[in-house]
Amino acid sequence: MFYKPYTMRLDDLLVRMNVCSYRRVHKLLRTKNLSVNGITIKDSEHSSGLLIDTRADSIFIDGMPLNMQKDIYLMMNKMQGTVCTMQKGWNTRVIDCIKEEEYKLEILGHTLQPIGRLDKDTEGLLILTTDGKLNHLLTVPETHISKTYLVHLQTACTQEEQKAYSAMFMEGLDIPEGRTGRAFKSLPAELEWQSEDICYLTISEGKFHQVKRMFKAIKNEVTFLKRIKIGSLCLDENLKAGEYRPLKDEELNLLTT
Ligand code: URA
Repeated sequence: MFYKPYTMRLDDLLVRMNVCSYRRVHKLLRTKNLSVNGITIKDSEHSSGLLIDTRADSIFIDGMPLNMQKDIYLMMNKMQGTVCTMQKGWNTRVIDCIKEEEYKLEILGHTLQPIGRLDKDTEGLLILTTDGKLNHLLTVPETHISKTYLVHLQTACTQEEQKAYSAMFMEGLDIPEGRTGRAFKSLPAELEWQSEDICYLTISEGKFHQVKRMFKAIKNEVTFLKRIKIGSLCLDENLKAGEYRPLKDEELNLLTT
């Protein structure tokens, strides 16, 4: 999947930095001297799509440097009891766990936001970023990035049941309509049993309360839920509940693989 962190099209960058609107990009390139790493960019069909690396490239407009900000990416071990909403009026928002002023800045026109949602009583891996492109990529239904959860169940399952459920999850389950959403057939999902009431579930979609609804469909109930992996990126086990740290560059690439 094509995704390069810290990289964006020249026109997106100019718009996010409030230099001009999309409509004015070509005019700007015609009337001003815009250079990238010392090379003047002439107006052409392709110039506004030029890929800029916000960490490495330097841009000048009529001799003035464009001070490019770099998107923020954090890995958090979400604590139970916190909510992923950005709406004001909640006193338990994940976003309010972020204390450093440097993470509260508007970066290229965007503030830090969680990618997707975990339920209030779910804990584990949550990515927060100012990068709208990554946020979109990881949350649109078409992308199918895998997510792995540690699940504790109310009712123990025998070995025969475990085998049967693994096969049913792999085939796709009919999830009935409920208070939390419409009926749907789940995509193939992988169950790995740790004991008779603890398993890992890997899904490649993210419907509202998906994991809980999948187990409800087989007449069981989730009593504990923790996300431990997104794509190939695992939760850092050193992070205690509620703690967070910047993502390393190599970890960013793991998110989409
Ligand atoms: N599925 C759920 O049911 N809840 C979550 O928080 C995440 C996935």
